[in-house]
Amino acid sequence: MATRPVGQCRPGAGAATRVDARHVADTGAMRRHRPDPVRDRWTTPMRLALAEAALAPPTGDVPVGCVVLGPDGSVIGRGHNEREAVGDPTAHAEMVAIREAAEAVCEWRLTGCTLVVTLEPCTMCAGAIVLSRVDRVVYGAVDDKAGAAGSLWDVIRDRRLNHRPEVVPGVLAEECGAVLTSFFDGHRADPAPVKAPGAGKDF
Ligand SMILES: [Zn+2]
Repeated sequence: MATRPVGQCRPGAGAATRVDARHVADTGAMRRHRPDPVRDRWTTPMRLALAEAALAPPTGDVPVGCVVLGPDGSVIGRGHNEREAVGDPTAHAEMVAIREAAEAVCEWRLTGCTLVVTLEPCTMCAGAIVLSRVDRVVYGAVDDKAGAAGSLWDVIRDRRLNHRPEVVPGVLAEECGAVLTSFFDGHRADPAPVKAPGAGKDF
């Protein structure tokens, strides 16, 4: 399995790549768009998540990518969907990134952190997000078939839970959605299916 054994804490892991989300408003790319103060500050981290999505193994894994930012804006965890590659039903991008972030800070609480993912989290990942105590979830494309951050369910902001991260949806939504559309279009054109017959769009 590609994921590291639990307990191998790596203080400072991921700190070499530092992204300060507070300063992305100065990028030229953003000036091409109508200003959106809620989402624009997360554009640069979302591009890192998109870069992670591109690393999804060519084994039929849906290209979803995720980064976790520490309180100072540095990347402390990253992951891409590798469920097919490693044969692990929990190996979604968010789960991989959360595990790496927890190893980096040497504890399970990710207080002050922001999770940035290219696709709206599913119920499993939404549960892990709540349990990890991240402050904020930023996502790109909406998953109206299985999303659990405001679409089909809203696990992350369920008032019955004692921790409800802020949710920022729709950051680079078109780009994030295009990656997935391209992936599924490619597989539809491929005569050799990557999934068992009858399997649907399943992240
Ligand atoms: Zn998931």
